[in-house]
Formats: sequence, C-alpha cells, structure tokens
Amino acid sequence: MNEKIHKDTATVHTGYDSNSHHGSLAVPLYQTSTFAFDTAEQGARRFAGEEEGGIYSRLGNPTVQVLEERMTTLENGAASLAFGSGMAAVSAILTHLTKTGDHIICSRGIYGCTFGLLGIMEEKYSITHTLTSMGTEEEIEAAVTPETVCIYIESPINPTMELADLRAVAEVARRHQLKIVVDNTFASPYLQNPIDFGADFVLHSATKYINGHGDVIAGLLIGKDKEEMDRIRGSVQKDYGGIMSPFDAWLLIRGLKTLSVRMQRHTENATRFTDYLKTQDMVEAVFYPFDENNPQVEIAKKQMTAGGGLVSFTIKGGQPAAQAFMNHLYLIKIAVSLGDAETLIQHPATMTHSGVPAEDREKMGISDGLLRLSAGLEHVDDLIKDLNQAFLKVAKEQHTLSN
Ligand SMILES: *Cc1c(COP(=O)(O)O)cnc(C)c1O
Repeated sequence: MNEKIHKDTATVHTGYDSNSHHGSLAVPLYQTSTFAFDTAEQGARRFAGEEEGGIYSRLGNPTVQVLEERMTTLENGAASLAFGSGMAAVSAILTHLTKTGDHIICSRGIYGCTFGLLGIMEEKYSITHTLTSMGTEEEIEAAVTPETVCIYIESPINPTMELADLRAVAEVARRHQLKIVVDNTFASPYLQNPIDFGADFVLHSATKYINGHGDVIAGLLIGKDKEEMDRIRGSVQKDYGGIMSPFDAWLLIRGLKTLSVRMQRHTENATRFTDYLKTQDMVEAVFYPFDENNPQVEIAKKQMTAGGGLVSFTIKGGQPAAQAFMNHLYLIKIAVSLGDAETLIQHPATMTHSGVPAEDREKMGISDGLLRLSAGLEHVDDLIKDLNQAFLKVAKEQHTLSN
C-alpha cells in the first residue's frame, strides 16, 4: 500500500512491518555491533552492495533504519541518516558540502556549537562564512561571493525567534546554484518542512522535540536526493563515524510516536505564555513567531503550521532581574535544551550565548534581560501561577530597592 498518510500516522507506523519481526508490536531493539553472514559469498555480496542486509552497525542497523524511514516521511525527503548528536549531523553535512577555500552564508543567529564549528573550518580549511539576516532576497544576495557553495539557516532562530524567509532563501539559492541546509530543530517536522520550500537538506538535534523526553542526545539529517544521501552514508558518516546507537534510535522511535500530540500541547502552552507575558508590566517585549504583533508573522504563517513551543521575552531590569526571576520559579526548571515535557527557562546572555562577544549579542538582539522559555507539557495554569508569583517577587524586591 502506498496510500499517502498524515504525519500523525507516519510517526506511529512508517518503516515497520510487525510480520517480519515475530509479530512484535514494538520495534525490536537490534543491540548488535555486527551481523553474521550465512556464507562467505553472502558476505562478499553485501560488501559489493549486490544484496541488502546488515554488515556492521556503523554502516546501518535495522532499528536505526526504522527511525530513518520515519524521518524521511515526516520531512518529505528521499532518505535520512541518524547521528550520535545534532552536532554530528551538522558537521557531517558541512564537511560533505565544502572544501578548502569555499564560503558559507549563514543566518545571523545559529546554534553556538555550529558557530564554533565554523570557526574550526575557517582556521583549519580556510572555509569562510558570512552571517546575515535572512528576511529578504536582497540581504541574502548581498552576501553571495564566487566561492559561496551553500546557505545554512535556522528558523526560528535561537533565542530571538527571528525567522528566515525560506522562499527568499530558495530564490537566491536557485539563482546561484547553492545548496540549502536548514536546521529545523526549533520547529520540528510537525510544524515546518523546509524541503517543501526548496531546501536540499534538513537536520535536527533529535535531542529536542523528536525525542521529547530529555534523555537522549542524537541527530538526524534528511535529504531530498537519495543517491547523494547514500554517498554521505558511505563516506562522511561511515569514516568520521558519528553514528547513532541502536538503543538511542529505539528511544527516539518511542518518543516520536507522540510528536504530534506533544507539539500541539507545546504550542498551546507557548501561546498562553505569550498572551500572559504581554499583560505584564515587568515585560518589555515578547518574541513568538505567531504573535500578531510580530513584524514577521506573515512569513511565519507561510512556512509554519503553528508557532511551536518556544517563547522569549525581555524583563525590565536586565541581568539582575532576569536571574532573580529565574531563582523565584518553583516549577519551571532552570536548564538549557528544549522540547522536553518539563517547562525550561534559560538566560541566553550568561548561558547558551555567553560565548558570543557582548557587542555581537547586541547585534543579534540578545539583551541582558532576555529569557527563553521552552513550554513543556504541564497544565498551563500551574505554569502561569509559577511565572506570576516570580514576577510579583521581583517587582517587590525592585520596589524595596528603590525606596
Ligand atoms: C541543541 C541544538 C543543536 C545541537 O544538537 P546536539 O544534539 O546537542 O548536538 C543544533 N541546533 C539547534 C537549533 C539546537 O537547539
């Protein structure tokens, strides 16, 4: 059967037939490093690529393969590769696409370690990059050089929730024959499918929404060209070796089953946070893709089906107020990472973006009063109660100080 199914169904069924696995309803965990061949000739055929089947788990594993097939369907791609971390996926695709002397255009906000990797590539291989806003074709076009080979973006961008206009990126890439890579971690495949907008590769830190339970570090890369993905599997992935373990794939298969219901609740809670935060005197600004006051809301609605689970806001009083606010929370946990069942809060200026020089942080819109919330799955009334009592305590402290 090749009936087109909804994402909510694909997360549960794609890539697995229980009839081929003793009827096991759950996908079995093939916790093995290697595979025994029936005969010497069979081993030779597998190595020659003439026969499907296992060789060694760094080259492929049946449990990992189910996850890869599910992700291919969810991202409307042609093939997927599973990695040991989001950063292993980032480094694999950038290594695949570039050689010494090349140039990369990046969204002006990117994950801190991706920024670190670009530094290594520049130092070791003279691969340079330009960070730019991805809001209009003109801005992107201005960054293109004769050495440019790819455009690497995140959208929404961490932690300011600024958006890259995927259509504008695709237009410029088409004109200059550049490959497009999108880190889709923040949206998840449930809310945004960059391949539909012209991206060549999509990657995820599966640590976040794909797993959703805060107990795995993993990465995924999805591509729209099967042959090219096979080449990456047989070169950069195999030889650099940053693969996913079968057990982590098994946990991700389990987490992924609830992606659709989780994303709905994350979005509902984040929307309620946004509405609530906008009523608070202590809040200077709120950043959420689907907020009607967001100047980029039209872009958001064209490329995302909902706003997702992340909201950022600036609190009046800078870093002291931000830290006091976090310390007064009793339910919401102070932690980096995102997409977990627990609502998390972090302070980018001293945590995820503390490595970025202050003036660059300023340019990226990361003020000392900025806080990022990852809406969890709890009852939203309990969470808002927590936020509210923390605001009251900070307000009281500020009042005492000023008297
Ligand atoms: C967490 C994260 C990464 C890195 O993923 P790891 O699984 O921690 O290696 C990359 N991009 C984004 C947007 C992330 O949030």
